[in-house]
Amino acid sequence: MNKNILVVDDTESNIDILLELLDDKYDVMVALDGESALEIANEERLDLILLDIMMPIMDGYEVCQKLKLNENTKDIPIIFITAKTDEDSIEKAYSLGGSDYVIKPFRPKELLAKVNREIQLKNYQEELKLLASTDPMTKLYNRRYFNEISKNILEQERENSSELSIMMMDIDKFKNVNDTYGHSIGDEVISFVADILRKFQRKSDVVCRYGGEEFVMLLPNTSIKEALSVAQRVRKHIEESILDAKENESFKITISIGISQIDLLKETNIEASLNRADKALYKAKDLGRNRVCINF
Ligand code: GH3
Ligand code: MG
Ligand code: MG
Repeated sequence: MNKNILVVDDTESNIDILLELLDDKYDVMVALDGESALEIANEERLDLILLDIMMPIMDGYEVCQKLKLNENTKDIPIIFITAKTDEDSIEKAYSLGGSDYVIKPFRPKELLAKVNREIQLKNYQEELKLLASTDPMTKLYNRRYFNEISKNILEQERENSSELSIMMMDIDKFKNVNDTYGHSIGDEVISFVADILRKFQRKSDVVCRYGGEEFVMLLPNTSIKEALSVAQRVRKHIEESILDAKENESFKITISIGISQIDLLKETNIEASLNRADKALYKAKDLGRNRVCINF
């Protein structure tokens, strides 16, 4: 994927030099002042910002501070561009969150080496983040990451005075699948269910693999009635799907679902609601599986 670099400098001749140097390898955007730099950084997916320190109205230090305070932009690495070589200016650049600095007039090879390194580090960071937040088999979020982001979603829904529902799902008699068709077919079934959930997931919904053959879906801006309808559609779709085992053998599976709603006036985390959904799930199992139960 192409890497996006934003160059921020009020001197057009500097911008021209930087464009010349970086344009072959990267997608370069340009801002001539701090205000528009902040705007672009908020809207685009940037991999690096080259930021001039001395600019009128808002200097590079202030731009950097604002970027680091914003959740959307705080992880974008910043290389300062500066004519100042005194120790205090350089120390300030680092202390405000800058990753590196280059001195004007530019030394092309050095500048490119620094840019390449920063982009590579950002890449590693993103890979690590993905590894730490997802389950390798299904590529869904893992439980740890789910618990982490559920806090933010809860806060956001509270601010919007919205409704937040939760679905807890478990494959029925999954042990039988492993025992009958083997563990690797079992794995395929788990991935199959994950794919179905991805298919039914709306943009704001968050799905995670909560445990072995258990999944949780958090549905922002969704009443329990709407959650019930989503759950029924997922359940039905899985019930009607035909899965392939080895040697032209096919089989079917079902899932049970428990749903609940988070009381945004009283609850500050999803734990209690998860427990209610879990109880509803057990009720669904007790009543014969392949069904959806609600526990408000
Ligand atoms: P129930 O309808 O009550 O949920 O029955 P079940 O057999 O699905 O219930 P149980 O929770 O006892 O069994 C789940 C099984 O899922 C046990 C475990 O070996 C299997 N399992 C968990 N994770 C994986 C996995 O990653 N791959 C495979 N193939 N099996 C897994
Ligand atoms: Mg099960
Ligand atoms: Mg289970």
